[in-house]
Amino acid sequence: MKATVFPTIDDVLAAQRRISPVVRRTPLIESERLSAVWGDKVYLKLENLQLTGTFKARGALNKILSLSDDEKRRGLIAFSTGNHGLATAYLGRSLSIPVVICLSERVPAFRLEAMRALGAEVVAHGQSQDEAYLKALELIKDRGLTMVAPFDDFEVICGQGTIALEIFEELPKASVLAVPLSGGGLFSGVAMVAKSKNPAIKTLGVSMAVAPAMIRSLQAGKPVEIPEADSLADALLGGIGLDNRYTFRMTKAHLDGFVEVTEAEIARAMAGALLFDKQVVEGSGAVGLAALEAGKITGPGPLVIVISGGNARMDNLLNLAREYNQTHGS
Ligand SMILES: *Cc1c(COP(=O)(O)O)cnc(C)c1O
Repeated sequence: MKATVFPTIDDVLAAQRRISPVVRRTPLIESERLSAVWGDKVYLKLENLQLTGTFKARGALNKILSLSDDEKRRGLIAFSTGNHGLATAYLGRSLSIPVVICLSERVPAFRLEAMRALGAEVVAHGQSQDEAYLKALELIKDRGLTMVAPFDDFEVICGQGTIALEIFEELPKASVLAVPLSGGGLFSGVAMVAKSKNPAIKTLGVSMAVAPAMIRSLQAGKPVEIPEADSLADALLGGIGLDNRYTFRMTKAHLDGFVEVTEAEIARAMAGALLFDKQVVEGSGAVGLAALEAGKITGPGPLVIVISGGNARMDNLLNLAREYNQTHGS
């Protein structure tokens, strides 16, 4: 077997040149509210304002632009908990490439509908992201489609890493980074770039306590499967793949600490982001905020929290905001 070659910051710079004409450079804003809570500067990198509502557009686009014409002509396939599928569907439509998305039957209906509305063929199969993955492999065999993997892919990791290039261009003295952690594509890219820019930076991976697949895998010393559970952070569900090539080792190499947050902490963070920071943030995007507000991150700053996505179900989010106001007074 060929030895795995891991991405470097030069690969991420190449990704930035490739994708920056299309994806958005998202704002990095200080949250004075959170700075006051934490006692040092807190900045939010707002990937909820990225094309398609999450950072997934970066990695998916970098992958698609690296494919040969023949690979593109055969059509794309992705498996996803929702946001990677949405990004791939959106990019396929803008580049006139047909897209198939495999999802587990657990993925919320509003996410399926958004992908169908973009013209993707959506296949719902099984009870976990791993089962959706197996379905995707079957379709690749039958139909010759080209895989755009959600996290464990060289080009995808490089696309996600462009977030850290933007952070350092604006805030070279960033000293703690809090990054949502699931399959680890986002964390691997961001933390690798951050450590190459400043080896002393502290990198934290944040997952929901009910099913933190990467954290359990790191604790076990190898990729492990854990049962999926219901969570407000539904985009963080799914395993890391027992045949993981990149993200397990990259996360292990670049992670200084991990934090687990409860559902109640995520709910409060989503409500706070809406009511005070005026940001629509989905559960998975809010785990870094949840960790900070629960006192689970230590300084000194400046701290940058990656707000990874904003594709919240609006009725849920508004209910959480209403509940917050009822408990805290509005
Ligand atoms: C996919 C996703 C994540 C986790 O990214 P990984 O690369 O799988 O770790 C975090 N937040 C949101 C909103 C996502 O869609």
